[in-house]
Amino acid sequence: METLKMYINGKWLESSNGESINVKNPSSGEIIASIPRGTTEDVDAAVQVAKTTFRSEAWRSVKPHERGEILFSIAEKLKADRDELARLETIDVGKPLSQGYADIDAAIRYFRFYGGAADKVMGDTIPIEDGLIDYVVREPVGVTAHIVPWNYPIQIISRSVAAAIATGNTVVVKSAEDTPMSAMRLTQFFDELDIPVGVFNHVTGYGYEVGAALSGHPSVNHVTFTGSVQTGIAVGQAATANVVPVTLELGGKSPNIVFADCDVDNTVDGVVNAIIQNAGQTCSAGSRLLVEESFKDEFLGKVVERFKGLTVGAGIQDKDVGPILNEKQFNRVMEFVELAKEEGKILAGGNQVTVEGFEGGFYLEPTIIDAVIPDSKLAQEEIFGPVLTVFTFKDTAESLELANSTDYGLVTGIWTSDISRAHYLASRIDSGQVFINNYGAGGGIQMPFGGYKKSGFGREKGWIALYNYTVVKNVAVRYN
Ligand code: NAD
Repeated sequence: METLKMYINGKWLESSNGESINVKNPSSGEIIASIPRGTTEDVDAAVQVAKTTFRSEAWRSVKPHERGEILFSIAEKLKADRDELARLETIDVGKPLSQGYADIDAAIRYFRFYGGAADKVMGDTIPIEDGLIDYVVREPVGVTAHIVPWNYPIQIISRSVAAAIATGNTVVVKSAEDTPMSAMRLTQFFDELDIPVGVFNHVTGYGYEVGAALSGHPSVNHVTFTGSVQTGIAVGQAATANVVPVTLELGGKSPNIVFADCDVDNTVDGVVNAIIQNAGQTCSAGSRLLVEESFKDEFLGKVVERFKGLTVGAGIQDKDVGPILNEKQFNRVMEFVELAKEEGKILAGGNQVTVEGFEGGFYLEPTIIDAVIPDSKLAQEEIFGPVLTVFTFKDTAESLELANSTDYGLVTGIWTSDISRAHYLASRIDSGQVFINNYGAGGGIQMPFGGYKKSGFGREKGWIALYNYTVVKNVAVRYN
């Protein structure tokens, strides 16, 4: 068991009150580390140094391409320790090892992508009149806060921190109390670099303490929050009270819309992978299957068959499906499964699994629930487990109505060989990303990602996310 410290002002520190939080391996329930239970004072110290550093000549004088080099160095360090980090992410989050590798590879790509972007974020000139030059510059916003959920820690920290540093900001990360391990390694990588002290800070602790203090801190200039809708609303309110902008990446209830004219094998793969990845504990999980009524028996039969062949095991065993994070999350998922016994029909799974040698973990058979009523809790709420809910539609219009029938709008998959229908649906669906005959598109580092409706606002990933961390200034110059 490791005793870890947080990182403020270039120093490794315990909590100012000396308290700590234990971190568990979800696959076994074993305690693997302890982290400091940060306080409001710790948050204040981190924000103050981030503010001082942001205003310092030491940081201002670092050229954009040199900021890019910082990010490239982090990418190199991630790559050099790829095996160890994939294992660490797997032990900390419970995800199958191959998914741990995928997450590290995505993190490396974020640092490279935004490293390359650092000296390419340009402004504009605007024609006004003769004798006047008008130009627009994008300046860094200042101190950026990054509040991270437990399900994809290294990916989610990397995507926003890299974009914020590329554009010249300083950073305070609040990692997830359940899964802080890869964030700690990333922090060590920043500590090893020769960069001004205070550019990168990492405060650990509970959301209602450290997260709340950070999102409401008056010297923070932008908050990036990824997590649940309920917490996102609280974070948004706290930041808005200081007139501070937020990017909110929240939950989802994403549909895969399957038509009879799809490529069946490709679609079965897409639909199954979209819900079992990270045991369904994914914001963009394809948790609703909408299938054309005339095609239901044939298609669902294949999906059920595939589900029954899926393997369940500890992250390190690299089976198809790993554990649920902890007992609390497991019980929450089981409430939905119990509800399904009354309101729906379970076609596969639905039972707890004991994994030999890992009896302390909470595992669920991948589960399919049919006959779900469209406006029910099962149909509307994020389950956050390996649970697929099934609905049928008669035609394109009804598929659209069902797809748009929840409060969420993060991702949609459309599976059809009718390109006209696919484009029509893509234009009408309330969803931040639409995938046609695929789902996920290679990790999507370059593609804007974010929600419609209660899935959030603002966009992460891709070029557009750089603008979250800049503020526009217009300068008008009169000359003779
Ligand atoms: P959560 O909202 O419980 O916690 C997210 C983070 O916020 C954690 O670090 C937590 O400590 C902190 N927090 C908790 N209370 C806080 C408060 N009052 N003020 C400030 N911070 C606080 O979410 P979770 O359970 O860790 O993650 C699961 C949720 O995240 C799901 O809803 C999932 O869909 C969503 N998610 C969204 C994306 C996306 O990019 N859209 C990605 C991953 C996860």
